[in-house]
Amino acid sequence: MSDRKLALVTGGSRGIGRAVCVKLAEIGMDIVFSYQSDAPAAEETERLCEEKGARVLKVQADVSNSDQCDRLIAQASWFGGGHIDVLVNNAGITRDGLTMRMKNEDFDAVVNVNLKGTFYMMRGVSRFMIRARRGRIVNMSSVVGVRGNAGQLNYAASKSGVIGMTKSLAKELASRGITVNAVAPGFIETDMTGKMTANARDASLAEIPMGGAGRVEDVACAVAFFAGEESRYITGQVLCVDGGMAI
Ligand code: NAD
Repeated sequence: MSDRKLALVTGGSRGIGRAVCVKLAEIGMDIVFSYQSDAPAAEETERLCEEKGARVLKVQADVSNSDQCDRLIAQASWFGGGHIDVLVNNAGITRDGLTMRMKNEDFDAVVNVNLKGTFYMMRGVSRFMIRARRGRIVNMSSVVGVRGNAGQLNYAASKSGVIGMTKSLAKELASRGITVNAVAPGFIETDMTGKMTANARDASLAEIPMGGAGRVEDVACAVAFFAGEESRYITGQVLCVDGGMAI
């Protein structure tokens, strides 16, 4: 049995999630990650983590489905020999549009993945962490959850909700040696931002005091900090990785 810590990362097949998996593997953790449908991309994440010396398990799971979250958690716990040391709730989607034209389905889809998915995962994994009296939970919020954004009311609701859940669970679990923090990326080059219109992209980039987009590794380093020992006395916090957007 490995004495490496086990990290469970949702949405690890690409983008920020993949960078988080690789970074946590690099700092000595074994990795279980979920992916929604892109098996070849998941295999690439697996290969990159194994190159860093990690044991890796990839699991196909839709985080908006609570049964699939429970199955994912059970598989992670089995892989970790009964332990899940770190949970990173990274999976997320956007369905942008102005509020007056936003369909119920677009609101629900975003809340189901970003907010409810994070809840299902935190509820399931916290049971293991409470038993072990240790653990790190890191939730992916967004600068949009901190300051709002025109055309992203649904996404802002979900990502502000993630911050509220982070602070609430941090209070519930603080006495058990478990920290719960959030990372709020600004504009990071991934498939998600690649879908934006040229106008929306230019408007967002113009708002970044440091100029230019961030890299997935910038976010992964912040997650690794909250996942590691150095952050042991920090809980309920939101760290913006945004080149100054939220100032
Ligand atoms: P991405 O679209 O490249 O990746 C999203 C990941 O989530 C993928 O691995 C995808 O398979 C997974 N996913 C989506 N729906 C899922 C579901 N129902 N079940 C399981 N997995 C699912 O996006 P990204 O830019 O890498 O974003 C990662 C996280 O960072 C998201 O939570 C996103 O909201 C957040 N974020 C991104 C940015 C940015 O600028 N890219 C900014 C702020 C916050």
